[in-house]
Amino acid sequence: MFKIKQIVPSGFCLRCDGCCRFSQLDTIWQPHLLNEEQKKLSKKVYLIPNIQQGNFMCVSFNHKTHKCKIYARCPFECQLYPFLISRKGKNIFLAVDLKCLFVQKNLKTKKFKEYLQYLTNFFSRPRYKKSLKDNPQLIQNYPGLINLVELKF
Ligand code: SF4
Ligand code: SF4
Repeated sequence: MFKIKQIVPSGFCLRCDGCCRFSQLDTIWQPHLLNEEQKKLSKKVYLIPNIQQGNFMCVSFNHKTHKCKIYARCPFECQLYPFLISRKGKNIFLAVDLKCLFVQKNLKTKKFKEYLQYLTNFFSRPRYKKSLKDNPQLIQNYPGLINLVELKF
């Protein structure tokens, strides 16, 4: 399993409605599992109706505590968010989602720049480059993202 450092403090996420809930059942914003995650996580990461909010949520989301029930082993793509892998034409980018409140408040900070460098280094390692190549489901035409760094693999 891949583990990446987190930039968004957990307390910030616990007060936010942004993640793990979706307006549609079939949406590109839902978590995409790596091939190697399929076996262990496919029964723990899929969308179900969220009666309380009239939308959809990940089956592993606890709507009372706002916590992920499988946080310690949550999918790579969930760890990566608010960053995503985005496609523009033939090019692939490490991109960030401005819908995330933390990103809106921290985009210009030193902490954000340092974390971006950390992620850029992460995706430059051969193992992770290969992983992106082997998992095209992670690379989507997400609307409204800011493309930050082009990824070559
Ligand atoms: S949108 Fe950003 S701040 Fe809100 S829960 Fe998701 S990662 Fe946390
Ligand atoms: S696995 Fe956890 S972090 Fe990912 S969408 Fe589901 S509840 Fe949210």
